[in-house]
Amino acid sequence: MKKSQPIRMCISCRSRHPQNSLIRLKQEGQKVISFDGKGRSFYLCDLCVKNEKKIKGLTKRFKQDEERFVKLLKELINNG
Ligand SMILES: [Zn+2]
Repeated sequence: MKKSQPIRMCISCRSRHPQNSLIRLKQEGQKVISFDGKGRSFYLCDLCVKNEKKIKGLTKRFKQDEERFVKLLKELINNG
């Protein structure tokens, strides 16, 4: 039998994917950061992270500094 991965939903496009193929983030105070094992997390899929329009939308939605947020996401894609 295959090991089943938990399925999680991308908060941007609402598509469902195995947890390990998604980028996991959390909000800490005003900032969105990489999930560190504590608190509530949320997920973004690869396609959304690579979609400039969606990132712009998320930047606004979470009221993030765009430059920092984009940099964070790029780092997370490269690591994964
Ligand atoms: Zn997505």
